[in-house]
Amino acid sequence: MQLKMADKDVIQLESSTKQIKKGTTILTAEPFAFVLSDQHRKERCDYCFRSIKISRCSGCQYVYYCGRNCQRKSWSIHKIECPNIKKIHPRVLPDAAKMMSRIIIKLSQGGADECGYYTPSKYRKFYDMMSHTNNIKNDNKKMEHFTSLSMILIKYLPKDILPDIKELLGIFGRMSVNSFNILDTDMTSLGVGIYLGPSIIDHSCKPNAHAVFEGTKIIIRTLDDLPSLDWSKIRITYIDLLRDTKTRRDELQRAYYFFCDCERCSSPETIEISAACPNKKCTYPCIPADTKNCAKCGEKYPDNYQEKFNQVTELSLYHLEKMAHTAYLDASRMCLEKQDGILHPYNLLSIRMLEMALVAAMNLELWQEAQIYAEKLTPRYLFYFGDNHPMSGQVHYVQAKLLSFQRRNKEAFEYITKAEKMIKMAFGDCHYKMRNEVRPLLEQLLAEHHMMNY
Ligand SMILES: [Zn+2]
Ligand SMILES: [Zn+2]
Ligand SMILES: [Zn+2]
Ligand SMILES: [Zn+2]
Repeated sequence: MQLKMADKDVIQLESSTKQIKKGTTILTAEPFAFVLSDQHRKERCDYCFRSIKISRCSGCQYVYYCGRNCQRKSWSIHKIECPNIKKIHPRVLPDAAKMMSRIIIKLSQGGADECGYYTPSKYRKFYDMMSHTNNIKNDNKKMEHFTSLSMILIKYLPKDILPDIKELLGIFGRMSVNSFNILDTDMTSLGVGIYLGPSIIDHSCKPNAHAVFEGTKIIIRTLDDLPSLDWSKIRITYIDLLRDTKTRRDELQRAYYFFCDCERCSSPETIEISAACPNKKCTYPCIPADTKNCAKCGEKYPDNYQEKFNQVTELSLYHLEKMAHTAYLDASRMCLEKQDGILHPYNLLSIRMLEMALVAAMNLELWQEAQIYAEKLTPRYLFYFGDNHPMSGQVHYVQAKLLSFQRRNKEAFEYITKAEKMIKMAFGDCHYKMRNEVRPLLEQLLAEHHMMNY
């Protein structure tokens, strides 16, 4: 599978010094290698990631495809995997081992020559990507992970394509530092992929571009108006932006081996970690450790205010960590109650707890309660992500859906109208999220809206 520039617009952009508007696709790419997360294995096609009727590969009885077409396209890689999956049965490969084995198979078939173009003349190959081998060698946790992956791969892969340990470490390093999460239209992760061209894009905690996906194809779009297309100035985020500055810097250092000095990190906003002012009428973000009074309205903090604030912060962090894989409604409700009046509404822990509560309530089909959380998240997302980011579009879309489930069609219509504008900006007018999710709901609500008026 050769990477190529997918549409003409992109090609014209290289020579253009013209202004690039926000909401422009500046790059698309097919993955060099990719893996569907094991948790989705029985629900989605291993090749196109679509959630439709799928059937098992008759060889390994393990991988699922939506049809012959996808099975054929994945065969060059899967023909090596298939007998070996059978060989190690009933053991299964962890996702990282599967990804690494797919990279190795691909490299054994000439993958090192594949070019991922990011302009019509500039490209990257697999070995152009940084491997950070020295950083990894000094990182006990990463080395432990590498050793356990190597042991699996030695048992799993045919000897003639298995690289030596030095080479294996280089591949592992490139995979760890350059993988993208492949996201569904609701921005949850479906798997991981390596994209050669897009791997040139650096990180910022205040990015001017973002990635969305159509199946496994990555689409890089602008968040801001740019004076011209200068690839050295394009920034996406590598991590979740709803983290405070210290946590983001630690995570970037740990996972990507650099110290972030982006605009947001250099002048951190205290609102991310702030307390609510005890004066209910005041919205100022307070830091009770620094002063005894609110810097804006002068209200004195109660005696044990800082202690209480620290307790709620720790409790929230504890439960968020516990819910890393599954959101629980009782725990999120309890934390939200404790946070009320203590954490500032724009404190990131309050936002992350609302996200948990929303997911948990949706899973339990408690539409009314879920809608209350979505409503609270809406202004917070707009504050942190702006109005042309997929997260903001998504929360408006969810709001519209939850309101329509409750037959509150007039309000639902208002939200879907806003969602349509935002999602068009974030995903592009032709993206299947627009065709399959947003427009059908808009049309349905529009029809009901008209009926009500007659
Ligand atoms: Zn498929
Ligand atoms: Zn198979
Ligand atoms: Zn930063
Ligand atoms: Zn105040």
